[in-house]
Amino acid sequence: MFTSIRRILLFQIAAVLALAGCTGIMDDSPNFAIAIHGGAGTIERDNMTPEMESAYREKLTEALSAGYRVLRDGGTSLDAVETAIAIMEDSPLFNAGKGAVFNAAGQNEMDASIMDGRTLEAGAVAIVKQVKNPIRLARLVMEKSPHVLLSGDGAERFGDEYGIIQMPEDYFHTQRRWEALQEAQAEEVKERGTVGAVALDQHGNLAAGTSTGGRTNKLAGRVGDSPIIGAGTYADNRTCAVSGTGHGEYFIRLALAYDISALMAYRNLTIEKASRAVVMDKLVELGGAGGVIAMDAQGNIAMPFSTSGMYRGFVDRNGNMAVKIYADD
Ligand code: ASP
Repeated sequence: MFTSIRRILLFQIAAVLALAGCTGIMDDSPNFAIAIHGGAGTIERDNMTPEMESAYREKLTEALSAGYRVLRDGGTSLDAVETAIAIMEDSPLFNAGKGAVFNAAGQNEMDASIMDGRTLEAGAVAIVKQVKNPIRLARLVMEKSPHVLLSGDGAERFGDEYGIIQMPEDYFHTQRRWEALQEAQAEEVKERGTVGAVALDQHGNLAAGTSTGGRTNKLAGRVGDSPIIGAGTYADNRTCAVSGTGHGEYFIRLALAYDISALMAYRNLTIEKASRAVVMDKLVELGGAGGVIAMDAQGNIAMPFSTSGMYRGFVDRNGNMAVKIYADD
């Protein structure tokens, strides 16, 4: 009796293993995944033309696909993050690089940062005015300087030494952002947004990066959360990679990106629970708003946001791609 039960069990185990082999369940090829965002805010279907919506979806897909190819071909998560962000910086659609918003003095002052989850090395730039891709300059600060954060003219001069592309200030002058400044100055409405990416590569390393023009009509010299490691960006292979978008002053006060990592490290929360606790509870309770993209070391992704929309997309560890804008897609 027991022998026959054992035989049946053995047969069932063998059948499951064979099936797993066929379907790839036992596939031990390494996970990799990428998620991006193009900013959170009052993003609603009623205010969006079909043309604008498809332009956003196309550009998000382009950035996501480029980052995904880097990972698929065995590249690093840092390269994937930089590649995806640079594509969004070159688009006038997003508040970063080309599409950066104007400050109260009618100038573009951009911030960016990048972090390596393997080494905890990080690089950031703040208040750069002419750098075409601030994310590339942030990476150089990490890799070629003994510092973490460079700002203003010094950051731009540092970039010159490494051939970082600078553009005349009128490259960043887009009509849409200029009109937004006029509206903001008349009505005190602050247009905002940011771009960011998090990725896990086939070597098991996480990285995160963020780039922004900040908030429309901000005071000259204001620095937001995006270049502050632990506020707008954080990555640690032991926990997660995070890139944020939203009201930067609140993100700084909450050490928001680091707090997600800390909840995972010290309270053993999942990426989903840790990021929701910080974005949907702590941030909102303090009076702020925004969202994050977050990924753990297994490639699990969470994208909570407390606003009506967040431009976002991911390719998950099973290769599924999705691009979304509103809370309900
Ligand atoms: N976090 C950015 C900042 O405060 C803006 C945004 O993401 O909306 O500079």
